[in-house]
Amino acid sequence: MKVLIVEDEPKTGDYLKQGLTEAGFVTDLARDGWDGLHLATGGGYDLVILDVMLPGLTGWQVLEGLRHAGLDLPVLFLTARDQVDDRVKGLELGADDYLVKPFAFAELLARVRTLLRRGRTATEPTHLAVADLEIDLLRRRVQRGGRRIDLTAKEFALLEFFVRRRGEVLPRTLIAASVWDMNFDSNTNVVDVAVRRLRAKVDDGFEPKLIQTVRGMGYVLDPAP
Ligand code: CA
Repeated sequence: MKVLIVEDEPKTGDYLKQGLTEAGFVTDLARDGWDGLHLATGGGYDLVILDVMLPGLTGWQVLEGLRHAGLDLPVLFLTARDQVDDRVKGLELGADDYLVKPFAFAELLARVRTLLRRGRTATEPTHLAVADLEIDLLRRRVQRGGRRIDLTAKEFALLEFFVRRRGEVLPRTLIAASVWDMNFDSNTNVVDVAVRRLRAKVDDGFEPKLIQTVRGMGYVLDPAP
């Protein structure tokens, strides 16, 4: 799942990005309001974490812009100010939740998961399945044939990406850009190494093999090639 963080304080932004990435989310970080709005309206995010006091546009303005563009993805507000007025204003404008700085990361993560669960009930599933592989997107758990598989955050993000686009041949550069949020250009070895590790966990000892190599093109997750 993809989370956009809009936060101008470098320390807080980096801390959030790192924590959420480690928790298995694909994250982008915008450092001002304009960037935040621009990314949020174009980026296919599942959730936005939005600071209130930002350069460019304020968090309120970013939120208004989002709702104006017809995007109703969940928004979690972060602010150092904890006055009732702010809280009311944010909720009136359509913020889904509110967290006052400083906060414990565990609490933020719990709120994020709750919002994603709430936002998803009507539209998207919280579980994905292919053959006998099951992914619990909220608990970040994977099992195959009833057996628990432990994945790193990156492996989880990679598997989620494969499963969401099952049957589609995915070039290494696309995988790199989507899961690592980077452009590797020629050096897509990182992708190959990660896919090899993921396969060892997800496919070794199981049938059918889910992750297939498409020579010269990339990879595809397909239980029946
Ligand atoms: Ca700020």
